[in-house]
Amino acid sequence: VFDTAFHQTMPAKAYLYGLPIEYYKNYKVRRYGFHGTSHSFVSKRGAELLGKAYDETKTIVCHLGNGSSVTAVLNGKSVDTSMGLTPLEGLVMGTRCGDIDPAIMEFLAHKLDLDVDGVMKILNKDSGVYGLSGGLSSDFRDLTDASLAGDKKAQIAMEVFSYRVAKYIGAYVAVMNGVDDIVFTAGIGENDDIVREQVCSYLGYLGIEFNTELNKGLRGKETELSMPGSKVKVFVIPTNEELAIARETVEIVNK
Ligand code: AMP
Repeated sequence: VFDTAFHQTMPAKAYLYGLPIEYYKNYKVRRYGFHGTSHSFVSKRGAELLGKAYDETKTIVCHLGNGSSVTAVLNGKSVDTSMGLTPLEGLVMGTRCGDIDPAIMEFLAHKLDLDVDGVMKILNKDSGVYGLSGGLSSDFRDLTDASLAGDKKAQIAMEVFSYRVAKYIGAYVAVMNGVDDIVFTAGIGENDDIVREQVCSYLGYLGIEFNTELNKGLRGKETELSMPGSKVKVFVIPTNEELAIARETVEIVNK
C-alpha cells in the first residue's frame, strides 16, 4: 500500500512543475504527494458524516502532524495536494520549511559556505516551527504552552503554520470551485484547538460558522466543529492509517 497511490488521480496541470518537460519525461520529476492513506480514509469518513455520496463531495483534508499536508478531494479523488516530489513542499511543518523561494538555497549556500547536502539539512531538519521558534520545539504541545506563557517566537511559529494551512485551503476551494467539508486530522489537527481556531478564523467568507466553544480543549475525538447552519462543515476526524492499510490489503487479496 503506497502512501502516494491516492494522489495518482491528480491531473497533469496539478502534478507538473514549471521545469523543462524533459525532467518529467526522463526522470519523472513531478509532484507525487504523501499521506495518501490518511487523506483517503478521512475524506471518505467526512462524506459519511455529511450524508453525501463520496463521489459527489468536495472535501479539503488538513493532515497536520509532524509532517503536514493538505489535499483537495473532488468526487472521491485527490486532485491536488500540498506535498510534492518529496515531503518538503507545501506547509510549514515540525522541522521542514515547506514552500520557499528556491533561490534561498543558493543564497544560503553562498552565505554559509554549504554544499547542497548542508542546505538540505537546514530545510528538512532545522526549519519549520522548530526553526521559527528559535529551536524551542517542533512539538505543538510545547509551542502551545510557550505561546500561552507569552513566548513571541512560539506565537509567530504557530501563526505562520496556521496561515499557510489557510492559504492552501483557499487555493483548493478555487481548484474545486467550492467545498462541502474541511477535515482536520493527525496529531495537531486532532488535538490542537488553537491551530484549528486560527485556521478557521480565515474562513468566514466560505460561510463557515465555527463552534469556538466546542473546539476548546477537544482532543482526538470525531466531532463536527461547525454550527448546525454552517454552509461548509468542519470536522475533526481521527485518522487510522493502519486500518486503511488493512482494508486495502483485504481488498487486494480478495481480488
Ligand atoms: P503525528 O505525526 O500525526 O503523529 O503528529 C505528531 C505531532 O502532533 C506532535 O509532534 C505534536 O506536534 C502534535 N500533537 C500531538 N498531541 C498533541 C496535543 N495534545 N496538542 C497539540 N499537539 C499535539
